[in-house]
Amino acid sequence: MKIGIFGGTFDPFHLGHLGAAIYAREMAGLDQMWILPAAQSPLKANDAVEVHHREKMVEVAIEGIEGLRLDRTDLERSGLSYTIDTLALLRERHPDFEFFLCMSDDVAVTLPKWRSCEELLAGVPLLVTRRLLEKLPKTGEKAIDEAIERGYLETPVVQIEATVIRERCQRGLTCVHLLASPVLAYIQKQGLYGTISGLGDE
Ligand code: ATP
Repeated sequence: MKIGIFGGTFDPFHLGHLGAAIYAREMAGLDQMWILPAAQSPLKANDAVEVHHREKMVEVAIEGIEGLRLDRTDLERSGLSYTIDTLALLRERHPDFEFFLCMSDDVAVTLPKWRSCEELLAGVPLLVTRRLLEKLPKTGEKAIDEAIERGYLETPVVQIEATVIRERCQRGLTCVHLLASPVLAYIQKQGLYGTISGLGDE
């Protein structure tokens, strides 16, 4: 089985994330794309909503979508989620699966800052989906740029940002065009991001 792994904070999991996961799976011919919410991302501030909410939002967003799965590997461990460790754990649990590391281009350009980046990229093929308008961005590091180029997928750009969604919720503006409806309902029911709790509770 060919498995893509797509990690992130997913605060919240929006239609940009969903699009990237679906297009990457289709374009790379993967059997499944696994979505891995991070308990704590090494390169981000620790101010995301609680992990059980972020996990639930992924779960309701992908329910019934062919080939998409939620994977809890990064949630089971406390502390920072380093991809090199996640991958080692996944390989231990699923020795017969072939893994592909999926991320969008804005995250791919941060690879030089990742723990054991060289070792990581030597051991797993990259799949890079588009988020930036500029095509095929470069890090300036030869081996990383070659890995990005090899795994680059011409996915449609979906200009949605989690930050904008959180701000819109806070200001009481609609996000129906940015989130799958079960995610929006969950946010409203739980009163996340400053929404008024209970709105979607019918
Ligand atoms: P924020 O907007 O708060 O910075 P984020 O959505 O960029 O959040 P993550 O949830 O950690 O941060 O992103 C997870 C993965 O999804 C990353 O690989 C990121 O590049 C990708 N991604 C996020 N938004 C989009 C989008 N609109 N289109 C394609 N990929 C996206």
